[in-house]
Amino acid sequence: MIPYGKQLISAADIEAVTDVLQSDYLTQGAQVPAFENAIAQQCDAQFAVAVNSATSALHIACLALGLKQGDWVWTSPNTFVATANCARYCGAEVDFVDIDPQTYNLSVDALTEKLVLAETTGKLPKIVIPVHFAGQPCDMKAIHALSQRYGFAIIEDAAHAIGAQYQDQAVGNCQYSDITVFSFHPVKIITTAEGGVATTNQPGLAEKMQLFRSHGVTREPHLMQDCPSVDEERGAWFYQQVDLGFNYRMTELQAALGLSQLTRLDAFIEKRHQLAQTYHQALKGCPLILPFQAEGNRSSYHLFPIQVMSESISRHQLFDRLRANGLGVNVHYIPVHTQPYYQQQGFRVGDFPVAEAYYQKAISIPLHQGMTIADQTTVIEAIKESLI
Ligand SMILES: *Cc1c(COP(=O)(O)O)cnc(C)c1O
Repeated sequence: MIPYGKQLISAADIEAVTDVLQSDYLTQGAQVPAFENAIAQQCDAQFAVAVNSATSALHIACLALGLKQGDWVWTSPNTFVATANCARYCGAEVDFVDIDPQTYNLSVDALTEKLVLAETTGKLPKIVIPVHFAGQPCDMKAIHALSQRYGFAIIEDAAHAIGAQYQDQAVGNCQYSDITVFSFHPVKIITTAEGGVATTNQPGLAEKMQLFRSHGVTREPHLMQDCPSVDEERGAWFYQQVDLGFNYRMTELQAALGLSQLTRLDAFIEKRHQLAQTYHQALKGCPLILPFQAEGNRSSYHLFPIQVMSESISRHQLFDRLRANGLGVNVHYIPVHTQPYYQQQGFRVGDFPVAEAYYQKAISIPLHQGMTIADQTTVIEAIKESLI
């Protein structure tokens, strides 16, 4: 099968992981800080906090920004459920903003309209989470301008977008956001098996995320609180739990794999662009809508989502035929508000019509750095034959 996305593991990756296995530290050693430094450098951000998944990163990002019961988080319905769930973990309410029909990202026009209305009802969001869908950066400048006007924080969900550029700057530099979150699940651009990272330029947010990642426990004297203790003196053993945190730590094995993978990020993105360009050329003229690329940005091409506009074959039929041909096509995304859990929160089919219409036509076709020219020819021929 040719999957829609897959990791590419080298001999150097394997060596990096086995070296850690033979070392003294499987967790809490030098690899995680080294990986964090490398990600911060890659993204041109001041701080990076590595955790065991992007889902955990989203959770601690919300906690660091003080999200709590009664607050609202707004995001795109065209995303993985984790983007919305992080708000629910904090007891906050979720609402969605419909997508732009061209980029499939959260629509700035829809966001503007919704903010105007929310101001009158007193239900402005505390956090907005734009998602760089398929690796295509959102219009961050416009969203940031709205955040200044309406006073919300911004977490970029860049699970798809490590290596992408927004206006010639690395996604993750947090120029127009408070925190950016990346995923290193194997289908994403680079992998740590499971894993994620949050970048920020704000020392206070980095400190809080570090606390929440590890039980709310600190050994830093400046983070400790004055409270009665049984000790007259505090020895080197001393730590304090100053908040309620979790164990969301990344292991040394994961960080070593990530460090090794990161050295090939540029090559991976370049390969994805070559594959995307070939798809654009080969599928031009077919009854399909191919992904739009905004000028001035560089997508990481995590996905290559097409919309099936044929009158002779439906999306469902094409999907089944491609699967029968051994192609691991997929659909991104079932709109989050239509999931039973979110229907229980009061959302209904029809609430976000642009995301729903896009979903009904969408197929993600195979695109990953391990694909050969022969693999891609197989995909192109299978699609073209099915569309005749
Ligand atoms: C994969 C993904 C996540 C969750 O990432 P994990 O590392 O699997 O927790 C969140 N948001 C988006 C948009 C994703 O694609």
